[in-house]
Amino acid sequence: MSIHANTSRKLIDQFGRQVDYIRLSITDRCDFRCVYCMSEDMTFLSRNEVLSLEECARIVRIFVQLGVNKVRITGGEPLVRKNALWLFEEVGKLSGLDELVLTTNGSQLAKHADALKKSGVKRINISVDSLQADRFKQITRTGNLEQVLAGVQAALAAGFEGIKLNTVLMRGTNDDEAEDLVNFAITNRIDISFIEEMPLGEVNHSRDNTFISNIDTLKKLQSKYSLIPSTHNSGGPARYWQVANSATKIGFISPHSHNFCESCNRVRISCKGELFLCLGQEDKVELMPLLRAHPNDDTPIIAAILNSMQIKPKGHDFDLKRAAPAVVRFMSHTGG
Ligand code: SAM
Ligand code: SF4
Repeated sequence: MSIHANTSRKLIDQFGRQVDYIRLSITDRCDFRCVYCMSEDMTFLSRNEVLSLEECARIVRIFVQLGVNKVRITGGEPLVRKNALWLFEEVGKLSGLDELVLTTNGSQLAKHADALKKSGVKRINISVDSLQADRFKQITRTGNLEQVLAGVQAALAAGFEGIKLNTVLMRGTNDDEAEDLVNFAITNRIDISFIEEMPLGEVNHSRDNTFISNIDTLKKLQSKYSLIPSTHNSGGPARYWQVANSATKIGFISPHSHNFCESCNRVRISCKGELFLCLGQEDKVELMPLLRAHPNDDTPIIAAILNSMQIKPKGHDFDLKRAAPAVVRFMSHTGG
């Protein structure tokens, strides 16, 4: 397909799905080492292997020209990247973009929440897997719960349109905390999503042993709260339930127990400029060499992105029983 064949220049794949949402990882580095995400002795990319912030801004601008209206900045931990705020300010200025959103571990939010809000960030997802300091440390290896909770409070004070906690439950580690985390969300009038652990990258435990189905978590919570199925749709793999008489919605992100691929509207760009067409598959297009070979001409990059729609797979292929992870790359590399 040439770029001229696509007159609307919208990103429509071979199954008729329109891509209007990108998730961009701006660093593979992180101040935490969450056990389900990274190994303890993770090696990180060197500086020149990673997109510059100017290249990140250029990629987002091009995608917005191609009809993308929602951008999530993620990582690694996006807020540990030096000058990350500059990127938020640049992206926040783009016309055509409806939603600039962020996924963070919250460690730097107390410092940056106000500036992020000013730059145009509408909604923030903050990952919190436990409200118990010792357990939080055990899961994140290097994280400090108090610092993250101060970040949550700073985000609340900054007045974002939406704040959502992201929680990965693991059998035998924090699966008894679902209710406490929901209560925390209700008290603070924010949302919470439970994410099933995905087999991305090699970690130090067997995911088959730690896996908890969201179906079980939902059943447990339904016995404690009155949950009303919500029509709220983020366009992604989450299904939402409203907690009756509260401001809180509970989302369940279930790559295993619910196949969400048929309505997939997103692609991911890694911090190396790899355009991944599916979180669970290897299909990708390398954007970094094109960006560097054509610093003043977007045409080849636009053509590559339009053409990539032909190789967006129908769906992911996660299987917990497999000895090797479905995908060798880590979420911190691809961007969660
Ligand atoms: N550092 C930020 C954070 O933790 O929110 C952003 C990047 S992190 C990779 C994005 C999300 O991916 C987090 O909510 C994290 O819990 C989740 N995540 C990481 N590895 C995962 C895995 N193997 N399975 C499911 N979720 C995972
Ligand atoms: Fe860092 Fe986020 Fe991965 Fe935890 S989940 S190690 S905070 S990138």
